[in-house]
Amino acid sequence: MPSAPTGLHHVTAIATDPQRNADFYHGVLGLRLVKTTVNFDAPDTYHLYFGGESGQPGTLITFFPWPGAPPGRHGAGQATAVAFSVPEGSLGWWRERLRARGADVGTVAHRLEEEALPVRDPDGLGLELVAHRQADAAPAWEGGPVPDEHAVRGLHSVTLTEAGYEHTAGLLTDTLGFRFAEEANNRFRFATGEGGAGGLVDVVCRPEVPQGLVAAGTVHHIAWRTPDDDEQVSWREALVGQGLNVTPVLDRQYFHSIYFREPGGVLLEIATDPPGFTVDEPLMRLGRALRLPPWLEPSRAEIEQALPALRVPGPDEEIVLGGRTAAEA
Ligand code: ZN
Repeated sequence: MPSAPTGLHHVTAIATDPQRNADFYHGVLGLRLVKTTVNFDAPDTYHLYFGGESGQPGTLITFFPWPGAPPGRHGAGQATAVAFSVPEGSLGWWRERLRARGADVGTVAHRLEEEALPVRDPDGLGLELVAHRQADAAPAWEGGPVPDEHAVRGLHSVTLTEAGYEHTAGLLTDTLGFRFAEEANNRFRFATGEGGAGGLVDVVCRPEVPQGLVAAGTVHHIAWRTPDDDEQVSWREALVGQGLNVTPVLDRQYFHSIYFREPGGVLLEIATDPPGFTVDEPLMRLGRALRLPPWLEPSRAEIEQALPALRVPGPDEEIVLGGRTAAEA
């Protein structure tokens, strides 16, 4: 077996309005828009990547914003919460900030020796800010709208809501190499890599809830890190050997990917750390131009015209990408 994933790589979810999405993840949560590209399988749709300064694996949440997409249903067989790390003692500050900006924010809950603040994004996606002491060890992006002392430090964990427990737990531990970490109130935590923030998945068993439906406001898939292409190929062989259906290796331009479903129905990905987000634009300019993979460059004019207008946040002049205005939509 190849070695267990080193942690979370990214989470990809579905949104509706790209501007509202960017205004929330950059403007409110303070993440950097590190790549503005299109859905390679549907290039009339943006693919927006938000994360740390360089978009390092483990800091990333990405979106397919489909204007007018129907809302999904939160339920079993789904990743129902995406948690980010924030420094200890900053949840009060965050709760005020989120409330002041009209976000659907809950109250701080204590669980598994952490404090977690739940909030929904503008499309209803379940997020959590988890405050813990080790968060300070990770760098904050200094160019964002949130002060360093409170800034998001990357992904903390994801929560899977499942109708059953054994098969998902078995895949995590027996096949993927995760370790059982702890359990409380029907929340089973597994860890990979060094463990701790960025390498955690919680499985919550909820046989009474209906199956989830993937659409706007829900997670599309969860990606786990592997260091290189050789290791990814080993993973593919190992997963196929376990009887799973696995995609071929797909070139996502900023990493390479394989996808498969865990037994409860959640789509998982194993993604390589390289080449990363500076492969096609400099660190200083990340996210501030529409980037296309080489095979879509010949269609750039049509693609730009078909995309909704998007004001890209940045330190200097405002940049507007895409050609279609709201009036034409
Ligand atoms: Zn992905």
